[in-house]
Amino acid sequence: MIICMAGVAGDSIVDGPGIRTTYFCQGCPHHCQGCHNPETWDFDAGTPMETRDLAQIARDNPLCRGVTFSGGEPFAQPEGFAELAEILKAEGYEIASYTGYTFEQLLQGTPEQRRLLGLLDVLVDGPFVLSQRSLDLVYRGSANQRILDVPESLRQGRAIPAPPRWQGEY
Ligand code: SF4
Repeated sequence: MIICMAGVAGDSIVDGPGIRTTYFCQGCPHHCQGCHNPETWDFDAGTPMETRDLAQIARDNPLCRGVTFSGGEPFAQPEGFAELAEILKAEGYEIASYTGYTFEQLLQGTPEQRRLLGLLDVLVDGPFVLSQRSLDLVYRGSANQRILDVPESLRQGRAIPAPPRWQGEY
């Protein structure tokens, strides 16, 4: 399956704990004021890439144990990211995603969005809100955004924070 990409970082240390492969997709409907990546907004730009080739980028870094979907808005291309998540989850990678939607919005999302949500270990949710921006936050840009344990949140039907290593504690 094809995902339209803005870029890939094979050795990120800023998009979650450990060394991760971060997939930046192209296209975002949220247009947050102060967005750090406005060049990813345009749905007509970017480079189409096969999920099998994207998965190989994570495998190419033997230190990589987790992957992060970023953007752009990964949930605007849920079918492709669900396929990529399935491939990498089966190989033991931790799967995290950023989104401009809230967890509660995604629970009411399309079947494809809910499928992608169900494959994640961690979700960093909500739009970037400039008035709540803080440089003291770990793995997120503004205080409204939450870092959530997705399996536990789905089990309980409410937003549950991710483990301490995702909150900057070691
Ligand atoms: S959701 Fe992310 S990529 Fe999209 S506009 Fe907001 S900060 Fe930028």
